Amino acid sequence: MSRVIVLFVDALGPSMLERFGERLSLAPHRRALRGVLGYSSGALATILTGAPPSRHGRMCLFSRRGADEPSLLSPLRALGLLPRLVHERARLRRWLAKAFAASHGLDGYFALHRVPPSSFAWLDVPEREDLFRAEAIGGAPTFLARARRAEVDVLAARWQLPEEARFEEVEARAANTAPRLAFLYATELDAVAHAEGSHGNRLAGAIDRVSRHLERVYASMARGGEPVETIVVGDHGMADVTRVVDPRPLVPRGGGLDLFVDSTMLRAWGAPGPRARLRLALERARLAGSGRERVALAARDAPVEGAPYGEAIFVLEEGAIFAPSHVGGRVAGMHGYDLGTRSSEAAIASSAPLPVALDRLENVAPFVLEALGAPAAPRASVAPGARA
Ligand SMILES: [Zn+2]
Repeated sequence: MSRVIVLFVDALGPSMLERFGERLSLAPHRRALRGVLGYSSGALATILTGAPPSRHGRMCLFSRRGADEPSLLSPLRALGLLPRLVHERARLRRWLAKAFAASHGLDGYFALHRVPPSSFAWLDVPEREDLFRAEAIGGAPTFLARARRAEVDVLAARWQLPEEARFEEVEARAANTAPRLAFLYATELDAVAHAEGSHGNRLAGAIDRVSRHLERVYASMARGGEPVETIVVGDHGMADVTRVVDPRPLVPRGGGLDLFVDSTMLRAWGAPGPRARLRLALERARLAGSGRERVALAARDAPVEGAPYGEAIFVLEEGAIFAPSHVGGRVAGMHGYDLGTRSSEAAIASSAPLPVALDRLENVAPFVLEALGAPAAPRASVAPGARA
């Protein structure tokens, strides 16, 4: 039985993986993977569970609250009592997000970005648990939970720590305990690629830091002479931003819609009439993106039950972003485009050859469990006496 390292690298798509060059010599078998519609909250949940978003229910940071669910975020409407220049300050919002999460027992990734205060009346956050400690995500067990249940000794990075401190902690623990499964987590590449696009000069440093992190953990785990399998996986790629769209003039007057503006998506809830007016306004603005309603979302395995992420979702063409949006402003790189775009693809690199059928994020969790030889891996039942 080998020991297994899974290194998750945010924004590791096929072209980012190429830039690692010789740096990932531990994992020479490489492939592009079909990603999921949405952002990291959906892709990471898919990597961890092996389930599509339609099953685990995650796609974007913010969803719409179900009519009969308690209104967790509505106290945050009070932000609206402050002048906008004050309540949109990044530092104030970061501080408040931390305090709010701590006092409401939210252990998942939580941020307030630039969400308009009045929207907190109807918004919700699906990720309330620490994904790396959760038993399951939307009912789908994670490979970390399955491994723990099979009494595999698991070391999972604490995503809450700043990158450098997180790397140091994981390396110290790996050196002391030599776990059977180590799950490492790296986000600097995503941040740098958002800030600088694909031509930034900080990428090389970030690639170097994460590569050396992996090498140090590998050295600790391989010390006893047991084989160590290495799997490096990303959640999506990154596109250089070539067009900035101000969403404000696109919103039809007269209301009737609840709207959430992500960086690459406009998500709307409301009656068919106002939704049609919105679609028309977007078409008039010659936004060559794609409006997605229930059928198209279902075809992309997106969560549609109860329309938590929008009754209509308008996805911009690759390279365009909404700014200002409810999650940020202008940046040089972005992801969150439709399936089929290059930036929607993730990448995987592995020490072991990749099975032919491994071509999407859903296949990663079974591959990890297989590498562990974990009995908790989902399998077809086997007749008594047959070889499992
Ligand atoms: Zn990102």
